[in-house]
Amino acid sequence: NLTQRMARVVKTLRGEARLTEANMQDMLREVRLALLEADVALPVVRDFIAKIRDKALGEEVVGSLTPGQALVAVVQRELTALMGGDYDGQAAPLNLSVSPPAIILMAGLQGAGKTTTVGKLARLLRETQKKKVLTVSCDVYRPAAIAQLKTVTEQVGAEFFPSTPDQTPLDIARGAVDWAKRHFHDVLIVDTAGRLGIDEAMMQEITALNQALRPAETLFVVDAMLGQDAINTAKAFNEALPLTGVVLTKLDGDSRGGAALSVRHVTGKPIKFVGVGEKLDGLEVFHPDRMASRILGMGDILALVEDAQRGVDMKAAQKLADKVKKGGDFDLNDFGAQLGQMKKMGGLSTLLDKLPAQFQQAAGNADMSGAEKQLRRMEGIIQSMTPTERAKPDLIKASRKRRIAAGAGVQVQDVNRMLAQFEQMRGMMKKLKGGNLGKMMRGMRG
Ligand code: GDP
Ligand code: MG
Repeated sequence: NLTQRMARVVKTLRGEARLTEANMQDMLREVRLALLEADVALPVVRDFIAKIRDKALGEEVVGSLTPGQALVAVVQRELTALMGGDYDGQAAPLNLSVSPPAIILMAGLQGAGKTTTVGKLARLLRETQKKKVLTVSCDVYRPAAIAQLKTVTEQVGAEFFPSTPDQTPLDIARGAVDWAKRHFHDVLIVDTAGRLGIDEAMMQEITALNQALRPAETLFVVDAMLGQDAINTAKAFNEALPLTGVVLTKLDGDSRGGAALSVRHVTGKPIKFVGVGEKLDGLEVFHPDRMASRILGMGDILALVEDAQRGVDMKAAQKLADKVKKGGDFDLNDFGAQLGQMKKMGGLSTLLDKLPAQFQQAAGNADMSGAEKQLRRMEGIIQSMTPTERAKPDLIKASRKRRIAAGAGVQVQDVNRMLAQFEQMRGMMKKLKGGNLGKMMRGMRG
């Protein structure tokens, strides 16, 4: 998986002082793959990689960073900057400072999440800014759409301006503006009809609404699950309308969020909010840095690499290497010490915490807790042995196995399995000459 690939490349780049074409090449390929896996549109990926190559080339690898980590930092920084635009890596705010009512016009394909987002926005503006919000539906093609907006508006305690399918969208909108003015609403959110695909009539209708209403915000709502296809939809809406921002919906799904980068790239408009659920509290301001991590699929990959380094006790590794070099036998004390190392590396579930969510899920399916339980069980078995047994494992025959199993609260077959694993490790140690062992230990640091 990607985390493993990244970790490998980070490792191979260790110990160089400057980013060069040569030492960046593998890493850039991984970044490219990560972006494609995240469903970023191909032309966008090409542009981005070219930009990264330029920016990173010649960059000094400072402090204790490896070139791989330095490049990851550049990628993360540029991706964040690209999506954060002029907002210095922060979420772009809604601009509602006009004479009231501030009008927010929603645009986007059918099913993008416009109506739901109207409800979510109304809730957010009421709760965080104490705004008096009115909503209206210009979706005259589906009576159910008007009823849907009425329902969500009432759920969040905002006011709903009724409309009927026999009115024109322009008449409805004008009526709502007039009502909002007379009743001192701060904000009017205008929901519109979408189509399943880009369609001339829909574009003309929303363009006319935009010209008549002169909204403070014209928000393009787009489904993150569209992936690469988001780029064409975004292009069409951006050409037809003076968009002021984007709402990326359905990020609670398993999309990696590549649409965020594509949409930002073709529209140049800031992503202001993300939809993270069907419920009306499922709207969050957009965080460019979090989205960058999600797209790269890195989670805390750097912390993971560093923890693994810190965890392996080099002294213990060296002691073992010296012992084997001098012809000493690898015994159960050494094996136990190695299990301890594994636990020091954070334990499997701590390591798991640091992985990106999608890998946590995959690892969860592979039953990591089972692996951890087994690690603890093996340690328990070793603790139930006498010092002599640990130093001379060949003494351990049937009756001793029964006693050890009883002491550790496991079955005899668990003892056998543990001893088989030990034998396997001992075999490996025998094959390794001391020099190789040291190398292997260093390799384990990750
Ligand atoms: P519209 O046609 O653009 O008005 O889209 P709707 O608001 O009717 O939403 C279409 C479907 O997407 C509905 O089933 C919504 O519940 C769902 N939906 C909207 N936003 C989100 C979101 O952020 N997460 C999830 N999981 N579903 C969403
Ligand atoms: Mg709708």
